[in-house]
Amino acid sequence: MREGKLDGQYLACWVRQGPCDEENSLKAIDRVDELIRHIYRQVEMNGEQCAIARTPDDLSRLKTEGKKAFYIGIENGYGIGKDLKNITRFHDAGVTYITLCHTRNNDICDSSSDTTARWNGLSPYGRKVVKEMNRLGIMIDLSHAAESTFWDVLKYSKAPVIVSHSSASAIYRHDRNLTDEQLRALAAHGGVAQACLVDEFLNPDAKKTNLTDFMKHLLHMVEVAGIDHVGIGSDFDGGGGVKGCNGDNDFINITVRLLEHGFTETDIAKIWGGNFLRVMKQVQTK
Ligand SMILES: [Zn+2]
Repeated sequence: MREGKLDGQYLACWVRQGPCDEENSLKAIDRVDELIRHIYRQVEMNGEQCAIARTPDDLSRLKTEGKKAFYIGIENGYGIGKDLKNITRFHDAGVTYITLCHTRNNDICDSSSDTTARWNGLSPYGRKVVKEMNRLGIMIDLSHAAESTFWDVLKYSKAPVIVSHSSASAIYRHDRNLTDEQLRALAAHGGVAQACLVDEFLNPDAKKTNLTDFMKHLLHMVEVAGIDHVGIGSDFDGGGGVKGCNGDNDFINITVRLLEHGFTETDIAKIWGGNFLRVMKQVQTK
């Protein structure tokens, strides 16, 4: 993070999608609990260098203290189980975004990667989840969501939403990427889409994917959604990494490319977290 000039980042509590029965849903909640405990333990063990952050202000405060900020997210709403009360509990534990699903449909909504439609968007429970996340001020993340889910959430969410790690369908058609229509709608709704560094979303020949491929996606997203609605979501430790950008230490390479493309410092700050923090603030203000 020091080499890449990164002030903060998200640690995602990811849960694999399993059967949606009572027993397995409870296990998924336990897994999220366990991961959150691990994060707090690691941060405490390195308390001189970092701390948990929950708000945009925390990031600037920690920066002046010379500490790196770690935010907590939940990747897959399966981890909140079948009870809305768990959202409050995880909110209290410091969770600031929840990705509604992962690679399969769950009780909340349909996934972009599943082969069949279960709800054709949000389920009745999923609508309640959206409402509750709006009420508590937790960001709704639509990466991994099916297009039907995406449109439902834009319809029902009173707050802007994020797409934490998804790139551009117009550059490479993949279910994990966003169409131009989605990018424009997300921007109109005030949200942010974060280009992702997973090779297989960027180039049909995944092994050959490099930073130039990533930049094509990022630049296209800026062109379509506008400079105020794009960010970067690496997915490092979740499959992310391409030639030229394989870890936090390489992030500076993206900044160099943006400078070469003529972006101003103000624009670069927007892409490098500024837009994301604006959405976080808006969602938390309610
Ligand atoms: Zn993911």
